[in-house]
Amino acid sequence: MITPNKCPHLSPDPPSRYLWRSWVDLGSSRLEQAPLNNAAGLWTKQQVTWRCVEKQSGARPDTSAKPQAASHKLATIGEYKKIMKVIDALKITGSLSKPSKMPGWAYGLPAKECKTGSKLVKVPGSVCYDCYALKGCYVFKVVQAAQYKRLAAIRHPLWTGAMATIINSKKSKYFRWHDSGDVQDEDHLLKIFAVCKLTPSVKHWMPTREAWVKAFLSLKPANLVIRFSAPMVNTQAPSTWPNTSTVVTTGSTCPAPRQNNECKDCRSCWDPEVKNVAYGQH
Ligand code: SF4
Repeated sequence: MITPNKCPHLSPDPPSRYLWRSWVDLGSSRLEQAPLNNAAGLWTKQQVTWRCVEKQSGARPDTSAKPQAASHKLATIGEYKKIMKVIDALKITGSLSKPSKMPGWAYGLPAKECKTGSKLVKVPGSVCYDCYALKGCYVFKVVQAAQYKRLAAIRHPLWTGAMATIINSKKSKYFRWHDSGDVQDEDHLLKIFAVCKLTPSVKHWMPTREAWVKAFLSLKPANLVIRFSAPMVNTQAPSTWPNTSTVVTTGSTCPAPRQNNECKDCRSCWDPEVKNVAYGQH
């Protein structure tokens, strides 16, 4: 696989905020002609060509050639699929999880690395106090290692395309971000937006306790529902968020505990028309 270090047109540095905004603002699943758009972590058309040459003849690409304007066009989803295999994508991102309760696949990061959650976990009465993702099988060494591998992977220049490749390869059309952990920063959030744009047939749901995310909701793709989680048990979520979740001791609206702890045919968490989902306290 061509890596950023072998490609003269790719910077190994994380993209600047401006570049991510430019790219996300494109608003199309056919991604093209953003300035320096290869910072989005996706293959360019030139890379696709190189990869195909490599596959067919074993020849290395000619990296001495001057970049042409067209080389900065990103590959379409269809072109992208031709060159990134799921097995290569998984090497970049780490594995997904398949919670038995949910209708689709999920993705987890270490709960200890939650920016706000790691503070709330020390506050009695908060929704993070006695966090489920800090005990049980979540603390097994192998699970922790996998979570930290995924956390490191979000900085990989091809993480966005790799995640999209994996999600598009699944039959399920529902994806849950962060069954443990939370969004880390602005770059991470905008990469998630990009993955959602590259998986237009999938409905995404991302819970978060990070209030700063609200400033980016106008950039959010329509197939992603972000639910801001009220920080304290039995308190209302802020009405200024379009979608929220709460944890309550009575009056829950999540039917899972009444149906073998499974979602079954409920999809409320992914439904933007459902303003708030109230989960019963565990
Ligand atoms: S509200 Fe519905 S979709 Fe959400 S966790 Fe509960 S059962 Fe699943």
